[in-house]
Amino acid sequence: MSTIPGITLNDGALIPQLGFGVWQVADDEATAAVRTAIEAGYRSIDTAAIYENETGTGRAIAEALANGTVSRGDLYVTTKLWNSGTRDWSGEQGRDAVLREFDASLEKLGLDHVDLYLIHWPRPAHGTFANVWKALEQIKADGRATSIGVSNFGPEQLTRLLDESSVVPVLNQIELHPYFPQEELRAFHAEHGIATEAWSPLGQGGELLAEPALVKVAEKHGRSVAQVVLRWHLQSGVIAIPKSVTPSRIRENLDVAGFELDAEDLAAIAGVATGTRIGPDPQVFDWN
Ligand code: NAD
Repeated sequence: MSTIPGITLNDGALIPQLGFGVWQVADDEATAAVRTAIEAGYRSIDTAAIYENETGTGRAIAEALANGTVSRGDLYVTTKLWNSGTRDWSGEQGRDAVLREFDASLEKLGLDHVDLYLIHWPRPAHGTFANVWKALEQIKADGRATSIGVSNFGPEQLTRLLDESSVVPVLNQIELHPYFPQEELRAFHAEHGIATEAWSPLGQGGELLAEPALVKVAEKHGRSVAQVVLRWHLQSGVIAIPKSVTPSRIRENLDVAGFELDAEDLAAIAGVATGTRIGPDPQVFDWN
C-alpha cells in the first residue's frame, strides 16, 4: 500500500526513505502520534532512549501489530544508545553497559529486536565510541538489531570505525536540511557505502518553511513547503524522519509522491543554504 521508496543498506537490509521521528514528544503523546503515523502509512519510526518515549512508542507498535494494521516485518524501528552521562564507556564494563542499555530499550519498546540501533553521539573527546561500537557488533551478531549505525559522526570517527571494524555502519544520522545540506559529509558517506539519514529534515519547522524561495517552489507545484523539502531529501537519496504530532501534518509529510523537483527548483533550494546548524556541533559538543 505504501508508495515510500526504500534504500538498500550496505548489509542488504531495506530502510524506508521516509520515516517518523518522535524527539520532544512526551511518552503518553508518542502513542497517539505513532498510532496516527502508522495508520497514515509510515512504516519506519525513529526513537531513542534519551527521548524517554520508547514505552509510548512501543505501545502504539503493539497496538498496530495486534489489530493487524501492520506486521512486524513491514515495520522498521530505530532506537539509539545514549552513550553519555558520567558512565565509563571504555573496556569490558563499557560494553556491558551498552548491552544493558540495549536490553532496557527493547523492553520499553516491547520488541525482541529492532531494525536499527545507533550510537547517538560520538563524544570524540572521550574516544570510547570504537569500544561502544564493538558492543553494537555483538548485538547485531545476536540478531537483536538487524542493522547497526551511528549518529552525529564526522569523517574522523567514521574512518576510525572503518579502520578498526569489519562492520561498516549502515548509515549516519546527521542534521541535514536545506540550510545545512552537508554536501561534504554526504560525499564521504557515498564513498564508503554509508547511507545518509537526515535529522531535523524540516529545519525543526521554523523559518525554513517560510523561506520565500521555497514558498515559490511550493506554489509552483501546488504543495506545501514541508512537502517540497521532504521531496528534496528523497531526490537527494537521503533518508528523512520528519516529526509532527499534528495528524494533518503527519499525513501531509508522507504525501510527497506524485511530483518531481526540476533543476530550477533544486537550484532555488540550494540557494537558501547558509551552512549554519540548528543543533550543536557533534565534533566539539558533549552532552555531559
Ligand atoms: P523536524 O525538522 O522534523 O521538524 C519538526 C517540526 O516541524 C515540528 O515540531 C513542527 O513544528 C514542524 N512541522 C512538521 N511538519 C510540518 C508541516 N507539514 N508543516 C509545518 N510545520 C511542520 O525536526 P526534529 O523533530 O528535530 O527532527 C526529526 C527527527 O529527527 C526527530 O523527531 C528525531 O527522531 C530525529 N532527531 C535526531 C537527532 C540526533 O541527534 N540523532 C537530533 C534531532 C532529531
